[in-house]
Amino acid sequence: MTNKRPSRLRFNFGFFLESTLGTSRTIELSYPTIQVEDLTLSPLAGTFTATRTSEGVYVSGTLNSTVVSECVRCLEEAIVPIQLQLDDLFYYPPHTAPEGEYTIGEDGFIDLAPLVRELTVLETPIQPICRPDCQGLCMECGKNLNEGDCGCEPNPIDPRLSALQQLLNSKDN
Ligand SMILES: [Zn+2]
Ligand SMILES: [Zn+2]
Repeated sequence: MTNKRPSRLRFNFGFFLESTLGTSRTIELSYPTIQVEDLTLSPLAGTFTATRTSEGVYVSGTLNSTVVSECVRCLEEAIVPIQLQLDDLFYYPPHTAPEGEYTIGEDGFIDLAPLVRELTVLETPIQPICRPDCQGLCMECGKNLNEGDCGCEPNPIDPRLSALQQLLNSKDN
């Protein structure tokens, strides 16, 4: 990745690694806008708790954000709220981590950016809608029906339904 700006989701847990097992600390995040690798999240807010375990630092919490996408019904902008559930162990020292697991750097820093990015991608809806009752576009004239009725007559028979009807009729015979 060419974009190598330092992550703003790095936290120093160096002191924490010296503390006794079970020590925990809650951290509150509140960014109006934050760049997380290649994604821009506006906002990113919530709290997480970091707990010192024998294997590293366990991070759990809930962050809230939104993703901006295109509504699949009306093609207007859809701003979809998402919730990111943090529930991950960051291994320390880093070489003890199983393949693919998150680690704490040798410098004692945890970078939440890769995890937050991964969760954001997972939570982004495949078929975003701008609002639950979006009326979509008219199949006939293409007008955005959220802005009002276009006056087109609704198509009386959906071709898929008529095919189904034929199938049902043939079953009866
Ligand atoms: Zn819509
Ligand atoms: Zn229409």
